[in-house]
Amino acid sequence: MENILYLAHTDSDGSLPRVALETLTAARDLAVALGAPLTLGLFGAEVQTAANTIASVGATRILAATSPEFAQSRYATDAAAVEALCRAAQPTIVLVPATSRLARALPGAAHRLNGSVDTHITAISAGDSVTVTRWFYRQRIEGTLTRTARPWFLLLDSGSRPAYQGETLTAKIEEVPVTLPPVRTTVTGTRAPQSGQQTIRPDSKLLFVAGAGWTKKQADGQTHPADAEQLILGFLANSKASLGGSKSLVEQSGENQATLRFMTHLNQVGQTGATPRHPKGLSTCCHGEEPHVVGWRFINERRAVNLDANCGWARGKADVVYVADAFEVMRKVNALLAEKNAAVATQ
Ligand SMILES: Cc1cc2nc3c(=O)[nH]c(=O)nc-3n(C[C@H](O)[C@H](O)[C@H](O)COP(=O)(O)OP(=O)(O)OC[C@H]3O[C@@H](n4cnc5c(N)ncnc54)[C@H](O)[C@@H]3O)c2cc1C
Repeated sequence: MENILYLAHTDSDGSLPRVALETLTAARDLAVALGAPLTLGLFGAEVQTAANTIASVGATRILAATSPEFAQSRYATDAAAVEALCRAAQPTIVLVPATSRLARALPGAAHRLNGSVDTHITAISAGDSVTVTRWFYRQRIEGTLTRTARPWFLLLDSGSRPAYQGETLTAKIEEVPVTLPPVRTTVTGTRAPQSGQQTIRPDSKLLFVAGAGWTKKQADGQTHPADAEQLILGFLANSKASLGGSKSLVEQSGENQATLRFMTHLNQVGQTGATPRHPKGLSTCCHGEEPHVVGWRFINERRAVNLDANCGWARGKADVVYVADAFEVMRKVNALLAEKNAAVATQ
């Protein structure tokens, strides 16, 4: 019989990241489908608060590895915590959220435990055998696979399950001792690639994409990067949209040209960029070429603003194309949004 272990770490505020709650839904469903016992394994500086919020899931055991060292993301200590929790639980299948910490530490820990590990899992089903679904080649090919090797570690991508929500109870925790390795790495701070405000908002309802057209010569024969910056940041502030960029635009910023300085490679959408998931998308000054639009496959409703009535978006890639100057359109949109936000604020 399978024995399921759910593994997660707490965030700095003691809560579980959203992807961890989504993974818990998958772990619970798998345990129910297999009629298998479910063990929860948490690690962090303090885990009781987080354990209380998920205790109602109906686990047979709740294991915890706690240490001030687990407050920080560090391969050596994260892998040691995973290893200790697994040795205590003796699982056959381990479900793990693909946070950056666990995506880094899990493969090494799985190797120490003689296990197999698969990443980017989006679905799990239990029939005669447990099968998992994952993407290959940047979400171009979807594959289904199964393994006989145990323990089998599965790193689940975010956005594929609803987050677990349950009654908060007082969890009965079993503390698992961890032999910490010599610690050489100390996290002294965080340097984020974006200089100013946070522009990537995975939970936003809208993806706003800026293309290289924002930095090109306009009708007056001049470039207007300062206007572009103000219009784009103004729209993000008003709408709380998430910012994406075309490859052409993010590469200009990387080369330190006087362009949109808040745009980094992390914003790039497309074949060699990200494939974000938002209900709606608005593309501006971007031509809509296939290597870019392939990153829009999970955007349900697509609109584009382009001066060129013959751009890629107009060829069946967008639901609506506004053939217009994006500088003018966004100036008007920002004014309307500011008016609307001001009206809401006075209510
Ligand atoms: C192997 C490979 C991988 C690639 N991967 C990616 C990827 O991951 N992501 C990606 O984005 N690209 C990728 N590309 C590049 C892609 O093919 C395009 O070159 C790129 O997307 C073009 O960016 P753009 O549309 O912003 O710029 P441009 O092609 O320069 O288009 C600018 C657009 O702005 C419009 N415009 C200008 N001024 C205005 C205005 N005032 N108002 C409205 N519209 C205006 C123009 O009409 C034009 O359509 C890849 C290419 C290759 C070969």
